[in-house]
Amino acid sequence: MKESWIKLKKGRERSLLRRHPWVMSGAVEGTSGEVESGRTVEILSSSGEWLGRGAYSAESQIRARVWTFEREEAVDAAFFRRRVGACLARRRCVVPSGTEGYRLVHGEADGLPGCIVDIYGDVAVCQFLSAGAEHWREELTSAVREALPSLCGIYERSDTEARGREGLAPRCGLLWGKEPPELLTIHEDGLALQVDVRRGHKTGYYLDQRENRAVRDFYRGAEVLNCFCYTGGFGLRAAQCGAKHVTQVDISANALELARRNAALNHLPDEQFTYEKADVFQLLRKFRDMGRSFDVVILDPPKFADTHFQLEKAARGYKDINLLGAKLTRPGGILMTYSCSGAMTPDLFQKVVGDAARDAHRDAFLLRELAQAPDHPISLNFPEGRYLTGLELFLP
Ligand code: SAH
Repeated sequence: MKESWIKLKKGRERSLLRRHPWVMSGAVEGTSGEVESGRTVEILSSSGEWLGRGAYSAESQIRARVWTFEREEAVDAAFFRRRVGACLARRRCVVPSGTEGYRLVHGEADGLPGCIVDIYGDVAVCQFLSAGAEHWREELTSAVREALPSLCGIYERSDTEARGREGLAPRCGLLWGKEPPELLTIHEDGLALQVDVRRGHKTGYYLDQRENRAVRDFYRGAEVLNCFCYTGGFGLRAAQCGAKHVTQVDISANALELARRNAALNHLPDEQFTYEKADVFQLLRKFRDMGRSFDVVILDPPKFADTHFQLEKAARGYKDINLLGAKLTRPGGILMTYSCSGAMTPDLFQKVVGDAARDAHRDAFLLRELAQAPDHPISLNFPEGRYLTGLELFLP
């Protein structure tokens, strides 16, 4: 079969030489052979030097994603077995025993661009988000099965916007094995959680916040406000750590229903919780006007910015909720605040939150800088993979 290749414009090979896995459409000078979405192509510099081997994507701004920078390495079923095997070996170092929910494959950072695999006990949930991942879906599914022989089923949740940018329709359903139950239960460091892998956000749960939901002494005896609570995570942990009362806030009735069920599952008394189905932006204002305050305020909003272009608007959103959050935090209390907008760098987020605290006439001291859990690795070759940043602040 004739080799297919894409050639880069002069001067556009720099990022690949630094092992960044993306070739942007504007960097491509020309193509040869059969270049169609998903197909593996050789990537050459303008002078014809071999740079990498990757998946072509005809529709995406990201015209190719590199599978390998090793010239001798073929991209075939064995390649995917090796890569997924390496992912598992790395997870063994960072996922504590007793934790049944973790990310096995984190796309670009794991050398498998566009491929996400989350594990919930004996169920794996996959997302194939690029033309290349889509092309190799069967090999990837088999590789996951082989890496984890104890799995009962593999389910697909390729229903994110990223697929559209690759010219792919959403796709969900069973890939292999048994249908997962309506709700499956996982344990996260002593906390039992029900997860809806079919309809839940992402692949069902926010595994990336696992370490930030860890045990903290400051929850003991505290009144806690958990904003954007989803299925309850942070608030359940706070209650388990002896919080006096936890207010769980989300705009989604389904999320709150699951939060309630999760409290019961962990034998946490009903009286320990209040559930508010509300828009956080409005509720925080209402609480401010009522003069309410809390010992711990948690703000974990959805992504406000997808790209740099939305950053200014996103910054205003973060400033707004953090200003209100700081006002509602009692003197001597804790504000835990997050951004999962990749474009919002840790530095910038800290500035925005600092401005918000000042406007609320509060000093803020950084107790901990927080990030995505290490089973969502950040490759230094791919800084874009850093998307979750957080601050645990003490407000005197
Ligand atoms: N903290 C959670 C994850 C939060 S995800 C965890 O640890 O699992 C963001 C949540 O914000 C979603 O559940 C979504 O329903 C909710 N949400 C989005 N916009 C909202 C708004 N304006 N007011 C309240 N909740 C909102």
